[in-house]
Amino acid sequence: MSEATPESRWDLTPLYSSPDATELAADLDEARRQAAAFRSDYSGKISGLDAGGLLAALRRYEALSELIAKPQLYAHLLFASDSGDDTAKCLSQQTAEFANLMSRELLFFNLEIMAVPDETFAAVSADPCLESYRHHLAHVRRFKPHTLTEREEQLLTLKNLSGVEAFTRLYDELSASLTYSMELDNEVREFTGEELLSLLHHPDATVRERAFATFLKKHEEHEIVLGSVFNTVILDHGQEIELRGYADPMAPTNLGNELTEGVVGRLMEVSEENYGLAREYFTHKAKLLNLPKLKNTDIYAPLPGSDRKFGFGEACELVRTAFRQFSPAWEEIITAFFADRRVDIYPRTGKSGGAFCMGMTPSFLPYVLLNYTGNLRDVATIAHELGHGLHFVLARRQSLVNYHPCLPLAETASVFGEMLLTRHLLDTESDKAVKIELLCAKIEDIIATTFRQNVLTRFEERIHRERQEGLLTSTRLCDLWWEENGRLYGDAVEMIEPYRWGWSYISHFIHARFYCYSYTFAELLVLSLYGQYREEGPSFIPVLEEILNGGGSRSPVEAAKLAGIDLEDPGFWQKGYDFLGELIGELKGLVGN
Ligand SMILES: [Zn+2]
Repeated sequence: MSEATPESRWDLTPLYSSPDATELAADLDEARRQAAAFRSDYSGKISGLDAGGLLAALRRYEALSELIAKPQLYAHLLFASDSGDDTAKCLSQQTAEFANLMSRELLFFNLEIMAVPDETFAAVSADPCLESYRHHLAHVRRFKPHTLTEREEQLLTLKNLSGVEAFTRLYDELSASLTYSMELDNEVREFTGEELLSLLHHPDATVRERAFATFLKKHEEHEIVLGSVFNTVILDHGQEIELRGYADPMAPTNLGNELTEGVVGRLMEVSEENYGLAREYFTHKAKLLNLPKLKNTDIYAPLPGSDRKFGFGEACELVRTAFRQFSPAWEEIITAFFADRRVDIYPRTGKSGGAFCMGMTPSFLPYVLLNYTGNLRDVATIAHELGHGLHFVLARRQSLVNYHPCLPLAETASVFGEMLLTRHLLDTESDKAVKIELLCAKIEDIIATTFRQNVLTRFEERIHRERQEGLLTSTRLCDLWWEENGRLYGDAVEMIEPYRWGWSYISHFIHARFYCYSYTFAELLVLSLYGQYREEGPSFIPVLEEILNGGGSRSPVEAAKLAGIDLEDPGFWQKGYDFLGELIGELKGLVGN
């Protein structure tokens, strides 16, 4: 499935001409020099600054942070596109160590912002010149009760390099290095992990099962490393929770996301109350496939007679049209990703799996990594990642501290972009069979971003809790995974035995604690926003753009309020699931039972 050419790989030269460019080394030197100057100018002086002085310090801090980030972002992209390349590996490690050193040097700044007495802070931050920094400053100060002394923070940051960060890196390198050999069409072939996972969309049930089993069994072979990485990362988090006095493992994520435990808890409970909807769909899908019961390898199976493949050019045209119909300006923004070669398109050995969009800093345009294999879901992934890209481009009007949206809002444009694509495809399609296929794909996608993410989050909660009691054996990790998945699938889906190892390839567990509920949050929020767009028409566009333009300058509660949504309202989340129920109803109407 490879149409790979040099043009299908991204062009990183707008950042640096090569890994050994003299500009890169010069940036590192300049950053080191500026960090030392910043420290000597401001260390011990933050609480004495007036509003104008604090503003100047914040602006210098942002410019310096951009300078530090650029080499690291470049190295990260280089490494993601070829983790087997020694130059990329060394540069990635070197810049990570450098960023670690710089963050220790600059730690004092946020610590001193936290230490400003409440009354002084209230007076200084009330000054109009700090308006665009007020949210950021308040957010920094919220971590005060969980922050240690500067020396302790420095030591923790230093030891992370050879601790949790080293295990994360090992996990990434191991995952990217795995290749699989499997028989397909009477021929034994080598596959990347991405290629095997994409075979879950193969029309032949035995191929789907063989592909997923091959993928999972290879992970089982690496049980020692994977089990050790999971245990270490979870142990590290547990120690951090204790040291910093958080109430539970999810608390730092919620604080970072500016969400209360109540809002997140309600989101998860409502998701569980609606697991029955997923089971209803699975039972229905089994009928469509003429199977007595689904296996979990059948969930994404194509319907009989549909094996539609999309060339990459055709896929891009569909995504562009869908975005254009919403807003011509949006189409222009996403088209530039291809014109500038800021997209790495096809799978290959050594390249990171999955797909991501990397927001850089306001001065540099974002990059997108895909592993395009041509099925309908890959087309949706283009819409998803370019939605992220659009969000980062719009947020460039913010300064660095307000540029990255907080996690629960980070999936807003991506999920909305996918919705635009689905609606476009459904509206332009006259063939009933294709419409059924599209609806199934959308429903499966919503199930994957809501219920499945909820299962992942429940599993993550349990492994963190149990790790506090002692080592988690691989068998125990497998058992917990099996149980939480079983709560969703119930009697409607039979899980294949190797799926016990399904936890081991979910990189979010390693990269970002409790990231997964952000997907559930975003999907349900976007279903509501999309519903509003259908009701209100074009007058809704500026509302959504205002949310996206804001980047990370607002909390999720404030951003949702712009669209008149109250996240504290317990009934809010149910609306998203009601929308899913409607889609399932629409599907039944088309199928005729
Ligand atoms: Zn995303």
